[in-house]
Amino acid sequence: MRKKIVAGNWKMNLNTDQGISLVNDLIKEKIDLKYNQTVIICPPFTHIGSLKMLLDNNEGSKIQLGAQNISDKASGAYTGEISGEMLKHLDTRYVIVGHSERREIYNESNEMVQKKVDAVLSSKMTPIFCCGEPLKVREVENQNDYVQQQIEEGLFHLNGETMSSLIIAYEPIWAIGTGRTASAAQAEEMHAFIRSILEKKWGSEIAEDVTILYGGSVKPDNAQELFSQDNVDGGLIGGAALDANSFIDIIKALA
Ligand code: PEP
Repeated sequence: MRKKIVAGNWKMNLNTDQGISLVNDLIKEKIDLKYNQTVIICPPFTHIGSLKMLLDNNEGSKIQLGAQNISDKASGAYTGEISGEMLKHLDTRYVIVGHSERREIYNESNEMVQKKVDAVLSSKMTPIFCCGEPLKVREVENQNDYVQQQIEEGLFHLNGETMSSLIIAYEPIWAIGTGRTASAAQAEEMHAFIRSILEKKWGSEIAEDVTILYGGSVKPDNAQELFSQDNVDGGLIGGAALDANSFIDIIKALA
C-alpha cells in the first residue's frame, strides 16, 4: 500500500548520546500519525542497537529504524561491512540504497545498487531506493533518461509484488545539502515520470502502490508544498532531520 513517509538520513553525524537525545525529543512530542503515515530514522550503524532499546521502551512513538547502507554480501570475510541479517536482528526495517553520496564518493554502480537492493530484500527489509540526476544532466534536460536508467538497472529485475512494497526516493543531486530545492512543480514532474516508468513495467495497480519520496533540502518551510503534490508521498530528509523541531515540523507537513 502506498504510504506517506518522512525518513531522516542522519548521514555521518551525531554520536550515540546525541542521537539518543534527538530521539528522546521526537518521542516527547507524541506525534499523532495516521494509519498510512510512517516516520523512519536512519542513524549511523553504531547507534542502531541503543536506539532500538530506546524505541522498544517507547513503543507508542511509532518511529521505525532504518539504516544508511548494507553489504551486498550475506556474511564472511568482508572487513568493515554490515550485513542484512545484522541489521534485521536489531529490528531495522528499512535500508537506504543507492544514495548519491554512495554512488558518487564510493563509486557504487547501478549493478552494485541492484545487488544491495537484493540484500535488503533477502533479509526481509524494505529498500529506500535513491535515484536522481547531477546538475550537468539537469542543465541539458536529460534528467528523465538518467533516472530511467538508474531505475531500469537497479529495479527492473524485481517482480511486481516485491516492487509494490518498495520505497523510491527521488533526490536531484543539485538539491542535496545545497539549500537549493527542486520546485514543487519540478518534483511532481519527475515523480509522475517515475510512476509512469513503473506503470509501463509492472502495470498501474503496482505503480500506484509505490511510495515515492522527494529528497533535497526539504525544510519546514517548503515541506508542505512539496508533500501536497499528487505523486510526492513524503520526503527523505538530510540536514533538517538532525534538529528535532525541524524534523517534527516536516512530519506535521504530511497530508
Ligand atoms: C539526503 O541526504 O538524502 C538529503 C536529502 O539531504 P538534505 O535534506 O540535507 O538536502
